[in-house]
Amino acid sequence: MKRNPSVCVIGAGMTGILLAIKLRDAGISDITVFEKKDEIGGTWRENTYPGVACDVPSHMYTYSFEPNPDWSNFFARGPEIKEYFERVTDKYDVRKYIRFNEGVTEARYSGAKWSLTTSKNLHYTFDFLIAATGILHHPSFPDIPGLDTFDGEIFHTAEWDHSVNTGSGVKVGIIGTGSTAAQAIPELVNNGADVSVFQRTPQWLLPLSDFSIGDKTKRFLNRYSFAHKFMRRFAIWFMEHMFTKAVTGHPIQKKLLEWACRINLRLSIKNRVLRQKLKPNYQVGCKRVIVNTTFYPAIQKENAHLITSGIERITEDGVLTKDGTLHKLDVIVLSTGFKPLNFMRPMNMTGRNGLHIDTAWQHSVKAYPSMLLPNFPNFFLMLGPNTPIGNFSVIAMSEVQADYVMQLIEKWRNNEFDEIEPRQEAVQRFNNYVKEGLKGTAWVGGCQSWYLDPDGDPILWPYTWGEWVKQMAKPNMADLQTRSVTNQSKNAA
Ligand code: NAP
Repeated sequence: MKRNPSVCVIGAGMTGILLAIKLRDAGISDITVFEKKDEIGGTWRENTYPGVACDVPSHMYTYSFEPNPDWSNFFARGPEIKEYFERVTDKYDVRKYIRFNEGVTEARYSGAKWSLTTSKNLHYTFDFLIAATGILHHPSFPDIPGLDTFDGEIFHTAEWDHSVNTGSGVKVGIIGTGSTAAQAIPELVNNGADVSVFQRTPQWLLPLSDFSIGDKTKRFLNRYSFAHKFMRRFAIWFMEHMFTKAVTGHPIQKKLLEWACRINLRLSIKNRVLRQKLKPNYQVGCKRVIVNTTFYPAIQKENAHLITSGIERITEDGVLTKDGTLHKLDVIVLSTGFKPLNFMRPMNMTGRNGLHIDTAWQHSVKAYPSMLLPNFPNFFLMLGPNTPIGNFSVIAMSEVQADYVMQLIEKWRNNEFDEIEPRQEAVQRFNNYVKEGLKGTAWVGGCQSWYLDPDGDPILWPYTWGEWVKQMAKPNMADLQTRSVTNQSKNAA
């Protein structure tokens, strides 16, 4: 008889909602989703900065089983994406599984069970633990001297304070020029703020323009599902065969991407001095290419100032740059990115034989194949290291990984094992394979980025999307160690 496992999912973002649906559809009834906040939505709940939008085409940024022909824009805006997830959550009746305002603070593995403690100091036990905590959710605060001495308002883009006036005439300084800043700066500039942009390193911008989708088109897409499917397939094809290949070393796509970014800079920025300041000196794609057509026009406006002389420190009045200039400001916005390697931490997590996650990952953050960890049985890390993040829709990635997880849970339900974890040698082999592929990618093309771990190794997948899907299609049981609760190895070499 099939067993009904108790499954804990951490996080009610895009991946957590998906997992709850998949688990329920598989006939599993004991599902608990812990959500530290009072709303679903993950990154789309946290990031509310002006201009927040997805730079993956909207029709591709949906669950495959829940298409949305009603997107208002080619690149959907943050609030509309959050609404989409709210709608799916309600339609699939997922809320009943979610425990809001309850974060997991501690997880300990013992006797084929995960024992959890939450922020409400409640205790639970589960057969499976799945971290759907995302990658870009721990804001990174810069170590600039004097950060806490500033007299005005200061906040990170992921914690945008909407009570602060950033409108007409307000002197706003924004530190950082990544994807987030490129979306927020035009909004600030167009709202009339006096915007000082502190750029440490210039970025390459790919000019894929957003456009709104009118009611007529929406009606057409609703009526003719083939047209909608075509748009989705085209977006996937474009990302897979153009963008992903360009950054993973395919020469023709790489040239095309480089050409598009260089021409964009040349044609968009009229002033030669400004153009020089905005010109990166590293390979296109080394940092995540910014998909944007609004930043270049905005930075050329009178109320925008690009400052490249480097930050000396922050004072009570503003930002003092290395050339001795004090830039007086009312508001400082830190658009300084995230700490991607934290994953589910600071959760206090202990695997088999008391092994702490910080010890397991002290040299490098590794998993097989991106989601299972030796000594952490019956645990799955969604969107873990070396998934194709950065180049593809994370929803598509989560769907592939969720299917992989479901296959293993199904084996547990059929009494094939009680515990499962990867073999050390499989983790090593997987990492060697990934490392080999990384050599030819743009990410090792002479820049610093959030893609790199402390050893300078990119945390991305260096092969094609198709190759990844193929690898994830079916678990290779020879790479996995399974046991019964009596600790007898069922699959030992
Ligand atoms: P990011 O790409 O990591 O950019 C951080 C920026 O802050 C960089 O310009 C960096 O400069 C600068 N910075 C960091 N520390 C600094 C310091 N101490 N002094 C001066 N400058 C400093 O972060 P992000 O823009 O938030 O984007 C992160 C990722 O989020 C993106 O790559 C993307 O994957 C995702 N995202 C996606 C969308 C979307 O549309 N789907 C939108 C926003 C974000 P350096 O370059 O010199 O390090």
